[in-house]
Amino acid sequence: MPQLRTTILPRSTCAASAGHHIIGAGAPTRGRGKGGAVGLAEYKKKRRFEVTPEPAGGKAPRGRRPKALAYVIQKHRASQLHYDFRLEWNGVLLSWAVPKGPSLDPSVKRMAVPTEDHPLEYAKFEGVIPEGEYGGGTVMIWDYGTWTPEVPDVDAALRTGELKFKLQGKKLEGSWVLVRLRPRGRETRPSWLLIKHRDEYASDEDITVTQPRSGVSKRLLVEIARDDGGDLETAASADPPELLRKLLANPRLVTPPKKGRKSVWHSKKAVS
Ligand code: MN
Repeated sequence: MPQLRTTILPRSTCAASAGHHIIGAGAPTRGRGKGGAVGLAEYKKKRRFEVTPEPAGGKAPRGRRPKALAYVIQKHRASQLHYDFRLEWNGVLLSWAVPKGPSLDPSVKRMAVPTEDHPLEYAKFEGVIPEGEYGGGTVMIWDYGTWTPEVPDVDAALRTGELKFKLQGKKLEGSWVLVRLRPRGRETRPSWLLIKHRDEYASDEDITVTQPRSGVSKRLLVEIARDDGGDLETAASADPPELLRKLLANPRLVTPPKKGRKSVWHSKKAVS
């Protein structure tokens, strides 16, 4: 789309090469189900916090008694598009990368690759991870809210590989399940499946297409890239082409750049 740059971004930005491939990168180091601050060692090891705007974590607020457990899905255009599905548990965000994103159709099983636990502050991160850094690319808070276990013992459910839960998000609601697949070969971190349960929120609507904007800023990926110095074409490649064509035809539909908006939503302060 040759017009993209002039329509979305009046000033020109240097395009950089594609970012890091997060899914499947590196050797898995631990299984799912331990939780706790120990889980952040892998997260920290993979990132240079003097370069990336992502939160360093490690300041898990003590004595914090959350009324509800956080849930967030971050749409992440790294070297490949995926949706990072995160559930707060034991002071961290348990994380899975879902390449195709969630489906409201109970007959559709979406692959969910476990990734390293993330700090709780990460739920507030929307912006651009610099090219060349781990997971380099544009990150959108696609959906957020809270979750409620539908099992008596979450740790036991994580160990046995079948976690049922309800989501109370801006976009996703109702009952879901994460099911771990049997390890194949010498696989040490087997994949999971994310599946919608049949309930009043089940639907054949393709929600990743019908609701492509940020749950917090209403921006498309290309608009986040514009505001935060990301690569426009790469980010736009993960926005719905139909919608982009509409924007190009009518630039007034483009969300105006936010003056003075920082590239991160969190403020590097501990969450309170
Ligand atoms: Mn990711």
